[in-house]
Amino acid sequence: MADQGLNIAVIGAGAAGVFAAIHAAQGNSQVQIFEASNKALAKVKISGGGRCNVCHDVQNNGALLKAFPRSSKAMRKAFGQFAYPETRAWFESRGLALKVESDGRVFPSSDDSQSVIDILLGELKAADIPIHFSKRLKAVVAKGAQFELDFGSVKESFDRVILAMGGQAQIRGFGPLDPLGLDIVSPLPSLFTFNVPDSDLKDLQGLSVPMAKVQIPGTKWQQDGPLLITHWGFSGPAVLKLSAWQARDLAERNYKFPILINWLNWTDTDYEAFVGEQLKLFAKKKLANARISELPRRLWERLVLRAQVSLDKRWVDLSKKELNRIREQILRAEFKVSGKTTFKEEFVTAGGIALSELDFKDYSLKKFPGLYAVGELIDVDGITGGFNFQHAWTSGFLAGRASAQ
Ligand SMILES: Cc1cc2nc3c(=O)[nH]c(=O)nc-3n(C[C@H](O)[C@H](O)[C@H](O)COP(=O)(O)OP(=O)(O)OC[C@H]3O[C@@H](n4cnc5c(N)ncnc54)[C@H](O)[C@@H]3O)c2cc1C
Repeated sequence: MADQGLNIAVIGAGAAGVFAAIHAAQGNSQVQIFEASNKALAKVKISGGGRCNVCHDVQNNGALLKAFPRSSKAMRKAFGQFAYPETRAWFESRGLALKVESDGRVFPSSDDSQSVIDILLGELKAADIPIHFSKRLKAVVAKGAQFELDFGSVKESFDRVILAMGGQAQIRGFGPLDPLGLDIVSPLPSLFTFNVPDSDLKDLQGLSVPMAKVQIPGTKWQQDGPLLITHWGFSGPAVLKLSAWQARDLAERNYKFPILINWLNWTDTDYEAFVGEQLKLFAKKKLANARISELPRRLWERLVLRAQVSLDKRWVDLSKKELNRIREQILRAEFKVSGKTTFKEEFVTAGGIALSELDFKDYSLKKFPGLYAVGELIDVDGITGGFNFQHAWTSGFLAGRASAQ
C-alpha cells in the first residue's frame, strides 16, 4: 500500500499531531497537517513556563504508568513501545540537548521551549509536510475505506486520518466527531490547587514542607509529596496529584470537601518517638524554642496555636491532652476545601474519546480502521511533570508509524 502513496491527514498542529505527522512520513505517503488556528505548537511554546517540560526521567514503565490516573492499564501496550528512553533518544539524536532536574522533570538545556519547536518544525520541513493553517475540521465521515473531512468551505478525502485536536476540542465540543458516534467521556479539569477560603494559614503563604500527606477523610484518597501554603489555600505536588487522581470524585463533590494534612507524613509512632526525644533532651525548654526541626518555625508556632497550647509552655509541663492535640495538628490538621484554582494555567483536561474506543497498540479507533486519535483529545491525562507531553510523543509516534503502513 505504501508504494501507492497513502494520503494521510493529521488534524491539529500540537505536540501530538506534529509528532504523528513526522512519523507518518514514510515510503510514498503524502502527509498534510490541518490546523484551526494560525500557529503550530502553540502550547509547546508556553509550556513549562516557556521552558517546556518535554518529558520525565522514568526508566521504568511501571513508574511511568503511575503518572496516568485513569488510563494506566490501557497504556501499558503503548509505553512498552515508545516511552522516556525512546523520546530522549529521538530528541537528542536531532541535536536537542536535554537536562534532568532534581525532581525528574526533563527540559531543554537552553531552558527555552523554542528549541523543541525548532527541532519539530525542522523535521516537518525535511519531510516536506505542509501545515494548512486556519483550517478547522467541522466533521469527519467514514466513507468506504476513506474518510471525508469537512473543513466548511471544502471537503477532502483521505486514506488515513490522525485526530490530534487536543484539549481545546474539549472546550469547543466534540462536534467534528459526531458523525462517528464515538463514546466520549465528558471533559473535566485535572491538575488544580485547593481553595480554603477560611484557612488560618493564609498569612504563611510561601511556606512549604518537603513531604506531607494530604488525605480526604472517609475515603482512601490520599497523596504525598511537597506541599505549599498559598494565599488561597494549598498547592504543590501532593495537592496536584490528588486533584489529578480524584478529578472525577472531587468534581462530583462540587470541589467542597474536608482534607487532613499530615505535615511530615509521620505515623503516630514517629510522633511518640519525637515527644520521647524532646522530653529527654529539651524537657525544660519552651515549645517556642524546641520545635520539630523539619517544620518551618512559623508553621510550627501556628500548629501549636491551633492545638490551643501556649508556646511558652515547657515540654515537661505539657499534659497528655495537650500532647494529643499537638499530635492531631501535626498528623491530621483539618481544613475545609471550597473551590479550586488552576495551577499556573497549566491545566489538562480529563475526558475525551473513551479508552474503550482505542487500540493502544497504535491508537487506532477500533470501529474505524485507518482512523487514529492521539494526545489530549482522548481520555488520557497525566499528572504534572512532563507526562502529558510524554503521552503526546508516545501516541503521536505509534499512530503516525501505523498510519503509513
Ligand atoms: C499553559 C500550559 C503549560 C503546560 N506545560 C506542560 C509541560 O511543561 N509539560 C507537559 O507535559 N505538559 C504541559 N501541559 C500540557 C500539554 O501542553 C498538553 O497535554 C499537550 O499540549 C497536548 O498536546 P496535543 O497535541 O494533544 O494538543 P494541543 O497542544 O492542544 O494541540 C491541538 C491542536 O489542534 C488544533 N485544533 C483543535 N480543534 C481543531 C479542529 N477542529 N480542526 C483543526 N485543528 C484543531 C488546536 O488549535 C491545537 O493547535 C501544559 C498545558 C498548558 C495549558
